[in-house]
Amino acid sequence: MRALTYHGDETVRLERVDDPTITDPGDAIVRVDLCAVCGSDLHVYHGRERGLDHGCVMGHEFVGEVVALGSSPGSLSEGDRVLSPFTTSCGDCSPCRSGLTSRCVRGELFGWVQGGHGLHGGQAEYVRVPLAASTLLAIPEGVGDDAALLLGDVFSTGWFCAEQSGLEPGDVCVVVGCGPVGLCAVMAAVEMKAGRVFALDRVPERLALARQFGAEPLDVERDDPLEAVREASDGLGAAAVLEVVGNAAAHRTAMDLVRPGGVLSVVGVHTEDDFAFSPAEAYDKNLTYRVGRCPARRLAAQLLPRVQRRDFDFGAILSHRLPLEQGVDAYRIFDKKLDGCIKVSLIP
Ligand SMILES: [Zn+2]
Ligand SMILES: [Zn+2]
Repeated sequence: MRALTYHGDETVRLERVDDPTITDPGDAIVRVDLCAVCGSDLHVYHGRERGLDHGCVMGHEFVGEVVALGSSPGSLSEGDRVLSPFTTSCGDCSPCRSGLTSRCVRGELFGWVQGGHGLHGGQAEYVRVPLAASTLLAIPEGVGDDAALLLGDVFSTGWFCAEQSGLEPGDVCVVVGCGPVGLCAVMAAVEMKAGRVFALDRVPERLALARQFGAEPLDVERDDPLEAVREASDGLGAAAVLEVVGNAAAHRTAMDLVRPGGVLSVVGVHTEDDFAFSPAEAYDKNLTYRVGRCPARRLAAQLLPRVQRRDFDFGAILSHRLPLEQGVDAYRIFDKKLDGCIKVSLIP
């Protein structure tokens, strides 16, 4: 099959690799109909996250059809249209049972093979899914591939970020970063009836989309977010700050904008060693800090009925669609935000 594979910094190749096969009774093979490049793929691409074997198939966002199953398929059948969270999960361990499926004791991240162990990714024609019965979700009628694809990571992650902020109706909320996850966090905060939602970025087309989704855009190059947020909150700051970027500058900004007693909710994948604020600052704000990888299996299951009922504009987020053959270009376009790119999906 054809797949996009990792070969060191800023080097992804379209290669022919062996088709995946069933190696465990709980496996499924999924024929990928649509996959996507994620901001966290860029961490690997730029070497901010290291360790991947050369030749590892990239990607952890995909939807498709089950074409083969091991001897323990659970309720799955060949021919099922399925979405997948970006990690596998057993559904049975203590983290899974408490809803933290992203920390399943048997879970693995797609697109991460290191030292010969791990899971190949979904930027390919086929992908092997272990623990398939408790990982994959059947896609119900009325949910399109775009929605299903984003439920596997980006929409679930944006929603999770808002959810763990404890946002209450009427609260002032700030979303730091208007990439795909940030835009989904805006959608979530609006759905949760935040009083005002501010959205920070520096890319005009991303700010325009944030406005379209119901936020008040603030251009960090031109506007003064601190002043705008203080003005909206009796000088106090935002009750909920959603940081989806994962770098020191975003972290610092988020801390500056949160009110005393507020919640800083972080889903950006941080790769730096230190916090951008001190323990004393956290103490002085009576800060609640919530951080971590979205349990996308739980969120996707929870959000499927909502996505079925309500027509979110996921097409605006998936701004570019290319054949898998142009996957190398897709990385470049997404990385450089060329041509107004918000997010790229690929058709194998
Ligand atoms: Zn992702
Ligand atoms: Zn588990």
